[in-house]
Amino acid sequence: MGQRTITVIGGGASGMTAAIFAAREGARVTILEHQDRVGKKLLVTGNGRCNFSNRHMDASCYRSGDPDFPMEVIRRFPPEMTLPFFQDLGIVARERDGLYYPYSGQASAVLDVLRAELFRRGVRVVTGCKIRRIRAEKTGFFVETDGDRYGSDRLILAAGSRAAPSTGSDGSGYELARSLGHTIIRPLPALVQLRCREPFFKQVAGVRAQGAVSLCAGGKLLASDRGELQLTDYGISGIPVFQVSRFAARALDQGVRTEARLDFYPETDREGVLAMLRLRRAAAADCPLEAFFTGWLHKKLAALVLKLEGLKPGRLSGELTDGELERLTERIKAFPTEIAAVNSFEQAQTCCGGVKVQEVDPATMESRKKRGLYLAGEILDVDGICGGYNLQWAWSTGAIAGTHAAL
Ligand SMILES: Cc1cc2nc3c(=O)[nH]c(=O)nc-3n(C[C@H](O)[C@H](O)[C@H](O)COP(=O)(O)OP(=O)(O)OC[C@H]3O[C@@H](n4cnc5c(N)ncnc54)[C@H](O)[C@@H]3O)c2cc1C
Repeated sequence: MGQRTITVIGGGASGMTAAIFAAREGARVTILEHQDRVGKKLLVTGNGRCNFSNRHMDASCYRSGDPDFPMEVIRRFPPEMTLPFFQDLGIVARERDGLYYPYSGQASAVLDVLRAELFRRGVRVVTGCKIRRIRAEKTGFFVETDGDRYGSDRLILAAGSRAAPSTGSDGSGYELARSLGHTIIRPLPALVQLRCREPFFKQVAGVRAQGAVSLCAGGKLLASDRGELQLTDYGISGIPVFQVSRFAARALDQGVRTEARLDFYPETDREGVLAMLRLRRAAAADCPLEAFFTGWLHKKLAALVLKLEGLKPGRLSGELTDGELERLTERIKAFPTEIAAVNSFEQAQTCCGGVKVQEVDPATMESRKKRGLYLAGEILDVDGICGGYNLQWAWSTGAIAGTHAAL
């Protein structure tokens, strides 16, 4: 058998990794990238610092149509293999609370070392090419672009999702996957801000508060998370909100009423908060209500809570009734807000949905629909939580797809 030829569609994190691993196995590899350069999305990851993996990995870090699928893949190329891979390329990792970053603090460094390795391994990189169609024949795959035709034994589809389309991930990969026989679970924005229905968010825009968010749809608790909540003029943001956002996207897409409950003091339960409020009422009986929460809740948030409960800021704290304290407790522990929408793909860090994973073999990333076709990265119906999980998914799927495509 002659040298294996492989075409990789998409020069993102997963496509570059797949190309490197395939080339290391001796394959002749070409990347077809429709942007003017590869790896644009990598540059914006982790606020430009690239949180490229995480020490802690388990099934709860990924969401997918088949909950077992992500870890079946990850354990074949886990962070313990990702770190040496990057170390060999020159990346010194720095760990912060389990999250891995390049020590230089620059996402561009990760892209630089991947590009250098592509060059070293003789991978051909064709940028700016618009793919018209892919033909799968007995002899292999033929990719037709605007002006050219690329034939290869094997094809790796690593064209990303619809998240952050300005980086090149514009969803066109789904159409290519569909044309090759795959089912696409409707992609929706994930790791994204939530837009709320109530107009009062304008009054608390800019507030950051430690807290927790619980997301309910159709009266059922779907997900919750804890950390720094950010209130914006249109709704809620911050990492805990990102973590639950994909559930909101799916519920809203199905037309189900979706609500978030914000807990602005998750340190203790309702009883504990009520006890704190009683103490404050006794200790500051002759203080006006506008100062009642000083030192506990952000001033803007405190003003909103009082207003929503119809409590005048000039009233004295000592006048609060037990019933009012109970209502304030409820506001602090379970501040309700109705979710109107999730922000768009432009703001999303990833997508939920994509190529149905039951159609892909997790041991090799080969399609079960089309022999010789491999899939890698975010194009699949797998989304990770914040913390380096989506890039780990790209490295794992890329390494496995590249290695097996080359065999
Ligand atoms: C703002 C932001 C911050 C993020 N931060 C982190 C982080 O810190 N840690 C983390 O783990 N994850 C992070 N992510 C998510 C992570 O970047 C992605 O999950 C990861 O890049 C996906 O890799 P991929 O190769 O599957 O897709 P992409 O990186 O999107 O690459 C796909 C490539 O395919 C190309 N392409 C698409 N369609 C075609 C086509 N038809 N023909 C040819 N080429 C095509 C695209 O131009 C692109 O270059 C972040 C995402 C964003 C948007």
